[in-house]
Amino acid sequence: MTSISERLQAVRASIEQAAAVAGRPPQEVHLLAVSKAHPASALREAYAAGQRMFGENYLQEALAKQDELADLPIEWHFIGPIQSNKTQAIAQHFDWVHSVDRLKIAERLNAARPTSKGPLQLCLQVNVSNEETKSGLTPDATLILAQEIQSLPALKLRGLMAIPGPTSDTQMQRAQFHQVRSLFQQLQQQGFNLDTLSIGMSEDFPAAIAEGATIVRIGSAIFGPRKP
Ligand SMILES: *Cc1c(COP(=O)(O)O)cnc(C)c1O
Repeated sequence: MTSISERLQAVRASIEQAAAVAGRPPQEVHLLAVSKAHPASALREAYAAGQRMFGENYLQEALAKQDELADLPIEWHFIGPIQSNKTQAIAQHFDWVHSVDRLKIAERLNAARPTSKGPLQLCLQVNVSNEETKSGLTPDATLILAQEIQSLPALKLRGLMAIPGPTSDTQMQRAQFHQVRSLFQQLQQQGFNLDTLSIGMSEDFPAAIAEGATIVRIGSAIFGPRKP
């Protein structure tokens, strides 16, 4: 059986290779280990192998792991859908949130962020696959929300996150990521100081890196398959 440490090393090597192919410095691409459905012991193993950024989707599950891992200086990223009644705990217990897609949630996160922790690092979740079921902002709505967030001092807008429709066709993957990148560049041109493109998962991260990913969110390639 392959260990978490070995899989982590293999993922890091693949990231470096994809960066090299894209002509990008490998340190531009940060690895977020997505640990949903895996126990705290798995995160501890990844931490021992050098991993520092972890992403979680479900608040209660994440808080339990944070308790168990309180001795480790982990950078916690919230990447799941956000219900209003979860904003207070998310603002208190995470360093980053990738999945903001409406003003009400941004306002609640802003109000609940403890000053002592500094601004909450934020990505807006955009929808490029045009699937009705997927959450995420349209390009127009992204521009508007980015403007509105500028008046929320406890939030620091860093960039965009997207979860395109799954496809094994690498050209399709590139095309979807390219749309996110174009929107990202459009925001930069409008004066937003953004540095984060959170795109790419286990099945499509090389394509995301080719399209400018600065954070790849990888779960199963590190921790193995999730039990349903
Ligand atoms: C689960 C999840 C991931 C990781 O998916 P893998 O295919 O296991 O790499 C990344 N991003 C989000 C938002 C997720 O929910």
